[in-house]
Amino acid sequence: MRRFFIAGNWKMNKAKDEACGLVEGILAGIEGCPHVDIAVCPPFTFLDTAAQKAVNTPLMIGAQNVYYRESGAYTGEISPPMLKSVGCGYVIIGHSERRIYFKETDSEINRKVHMCLKNGLIPILCVGETIGQKNDGRTFDVLNSQVIYGLEGIDDHLVRNIIIAYEPVWAIGTGVTASGDQVEEIHRFIRNTIREFACDEVSAGVRIIYGGSVNSGNAVDLLARDNVDGALVGGASLKAGPFCEIVKIAESLARTISIPG
Ligand code: PEP
Repeated sequence: MRRFFIAGNWKMNKAKDEACGLVEGILAGIEGCPHVDIAVCPPFTFLDTAAQKAVNTPLMIGAQNVYYRESGAYTGEISPPMLKSVGCGYVIIGHSERRIYFKETDSEINRKVHMCLKNGLIPILCVGETIGQKNDGRTFDVLNSQVIYGLEGIDDHLVRNIIIAYEPVWAIGTGVTASGDQVEEIHRFIRNTIREFACDEVSAGVRIIYGGSVNSGNAVDLLARDNVDGALVGGASLKAGPFCEIVKIAESLARTISIPG
C-alpha cells in the first residue's frame, strides 16, 4: 500500500519567527490525519528549529537541497550527515529551480541521490518538462532520461524508498495545473520507466507525487488518481491553513487497501 505523502516546499521564504509560527500552525492543523505522511521543507537556516518543534509529532522535516560530499573544503555547502544530525529525514533533489538557475546536471543530481541514501535520507527526486519541451512533444523523452539518470546505479532495495516528484516546470508557481488525467498518464509512464530497471514489486511501491500549483481546489482531482501518491506543494504551503486543507483532503482519500501499481 502506498501512503500519501504531502510535502511543503517553502523555497527561499520566511524569517525565523515566521517559520516557527508556520510549523506551529501546521502541527495544530494536521491532527487527526494518521493515514498521510506529512513533511515541510524549510530553508536550511530553520531546519534545526523546525525539527525540534516536530519531535514526537507526525510532521517530518526535509531540506530543499544538499551537496554530494559528506564533508570537506566546500565553502557554503551543506552535507547529508549535517542534515541528518539536525533531524532531517528528506531532501528535495533536482528541483527545476536548481536545474535551471543553478545549472544542476543529471549527473550531480544522481550523486546527491546516492549520497542521501548512503546517509539514511530519503530523496524527493524532482523531474519535469519545460513548456518548450512539452510543446515540442518531448515530455516523455525528458522524463525518461531524468528518471533513468537520476536513479542510475541505485539498488532495487533503495529505489523503493525514493519519492519521485513529477513537477512540470510550466505548472510551478504559475497557477496552471496539469489536469488529473494528464498527471495520471505521466505518473503511470514514470512507474513503467522504473519497471524497466527495478523489479515489479519495487516499481509498484515507489511513491510518485505531483507538484505544480497544487491547492485545496485542485487537490481532489489530482489525489484521487491511482498513481498520484501525494503532492509537493510550493505556494500553498506558506500558510498553515491552505497546506493543512490539502493534507486533510489526502486523509479523506487515504488508501487503506493495496492498489495495483
Ligand atoms: C514547487 O516549487 O515545488 C511547487 C510545486 O511550487 P507551486 O506549488 O507554488 O507551484
